Amino acid sequence: MSCIFCRIIAGEIPAKIIHKDDELIVIEDINPVAPLHLLLIPKKHIATVLDLSESDDKLVGRIYRLAADLARKYGVAENGFRIVANTNADAGQTVFHIHFHLLAGRAMGWPPG
Ligand code: AMP
Ligand code: ZN
Repeated sequence: MSCIFCRIIAGEIPAKIIHKDDELIVIEDINPVAPLHLLLIPKKHIATVLDLSESDDKLVGRIYRLAADLARKYGVAENGFRIVANTNADAGQTVFHIHFHLLAGRAMGWPPG
């Protein structure tokens, strides 16, 4: 298995796991770019947002609601946070197993770099 997130999900590579359930895993990003930088990752291997199918609709909804719960839990909900799913080269996607960055803890610029 070459996908790094599939290997983390399988327990073959260590990660700081924040949350785990039957469909999702949440880990700390190994190279944080904000004081809070979590990755919400479906256990199912889906390469990019472009590969989502109708049967994944509920899964994506769950990811957003879990991100909101985590934002509240980490005390960043009121100040604000960003949920990002980089897709393909121009967005800088480096791991081709979809994941949603939850970024918070500092003011962020717009437009993004
Ligand atoms: P992206 O560039 O949007 O594909 O994001 C991939 C993210 O995965 C980057 O922020 C990396 O720092 C992070 N990452 C890569 N390998 C690991 C790992 N072994 N554990 C935790 N985060 C990782
Ligand atoms: Zn994978």
